[in-house]
Amino acid sequence: MTKTKTAAPCGKESREPVVLSRAEHAISRRDVDPDALKVLYRLYRNGFTAYMVGGAVRDLLVGRTPKDFDVVTDAHPGQVKKLFSNCMLIGRRFRLAHIRFRGGKVIEVATFRKEPEPEMEPEHEARDPGEPEDLEAQGQAKHARTDNNSFGTPCEDAFRRDLTINALFYDISNFSIIDYVGGLEDIDQKRVCVIGNPHERYIEDPVRMWRVLRHAARLGFTIEGETARAIRLDRDLLCSCSGARLFEELNKDLSSGHVGPVFQALYDYGLLTVLFGKVGRALQETPGTWEALRRNLDVADARVRAGLPFPSEIVLSLLFWPWAEKVLSAGAGEGRDVHDALHDELQEAGLIVTIPKVMKASIVQTVTIVERMFIAMETGRMRWSLRKRSHYRDASFVFPLLFSGELSESPDPFGGMFREAHPSSSGPWNKKRSRWRGRRRRTGRGTGTGQTPSA
Ligand code: ATP
Ligand code: MG
Repeated sequence: MTKTKTAAPCGKESREPVVLSRAEHAISRRDVDPDALKVLYRLYRNGFTAYMVGGAVRDLLVGRTPKDFDVVTDAHPGQVKKLFSNCMLIGRRFRLAHIRFRGGKVIEVATFRKEPEPEMEPEHEARDPGEPEDLEAQGQAKHARTDNNSFGTPCEDAFRRDLTINALFYDISNFSIIDYVGGLEDIDQKRVCVIGNPHERYIEDPVRMWRVLRHAARLGFTIEGETARAIRLDRDLLCSCSGARLFEELNKDLSSGHVGPVFQALYDYGLLTVLFGKVGRALQETPGTWEALRRNLDVADARVRAGLPFPSEIVLSLLFWPWAEKVLSAGAGEGRDVHDALHDELQEAGLIVTIPKVMKASIVQTVTIVERMFIAMETGRMRWSLRKRSHYRDASFVFPLLFSGELSESPDPFGGMFREAHPSSSGPWNKKRSRWRGRRRRTGRGTGTGQTPSA
């Protein structure tokens, strides 16, 4: 479905927002985090405009529990800092206030801003009244570049955001919802729509394509026609993004409880190959592979939603398995260590997401053990030393999912499956059991057979 959109509407004839009074919407202060309320009220009582914005307003309107609560205000960062002793200013280009509360909770407070205009020189920037002393106090004056030219009106702030459903304001002064961009209608229509021209907005920031797919997948919304079409045309723009930033995006999905639907959308829009090179191609292009993995991801999601652990490394090991299986079955080469071979292949696999070294090492270890487990199940021959490997527990968790599509809650899922499939085999749990136990006592090493995988 296609919808008409207006671009850059906050000029001279500033656009009138749609405003829903308290009686016309379902958001109650009871649903808002008490610390976020404290922040909103303190800003308001000190004469500033204070709105709750973004994911929190969207989620409350669709009846979901928000992950975090963001605030936007006309107070400049230095003014916010003066109001809150528990405040830290972060970010160089766009300075944000982080108000910290007990338990590591952070309420992010941003100043209304507009899209920065690239031709403006820093020395022409307006002064932020609260800024200088604050920076000097921290000895940061030389390094921080306050982007005061980017401060804007509420309307400009709404239009610089990514999606219409993410640009709604909840006004603490009268509990109304303010909509400059058509977000209320899109929530009503269960539709994700980029603000402005999607192609231009993706050029500005290609990560928005991933965000469109994520939010549509999480909420079960459709994607507006042009917003969707432009993703298929512009997906290669993601190659210009920083690998570290893309990893941050990936991380949001891995443990979200919605990794299945989000990766389904990445698959449907051909983004897996763009983001994960050969690893994505193994998922995208091998018949039946994606469907099997999708079932595994749904199991992971169900576990996360039940409040049980499912570490990101394990989700990644599942995602990497089809690629790793191909590489491993081709063999490491004469006299070459299989881990080294897999590491080298991964370097050459064309991923644009930067997976941290430790995580990569963990994935390589896990998938090599998983491969041994498949061979053991096939041949009935099992090397007992496998159980002593540091990632045995993770692999033992992944294996039943790949083998049967189910998760086992047994303390040693692979051991149980192997014993059942090969009751008379000479695996470590049968004939060699006593010998193995003896060694364990001598070395004092753990067996790694706990119920949950290592975090
Ligand atoms: P989540 O539930 O995942 O936290 P969210 O919409 O709150 O969803 P955040 O990453 O917390 O996502 O971002 C907060 C808000 O910042 C968004 O709702 C959106 O208004 C704005 N935003 C985030 N990323 C972008 C972007 N790339 N371009 C424009 N606006 C963005
Ligand atoms: Mg958020």
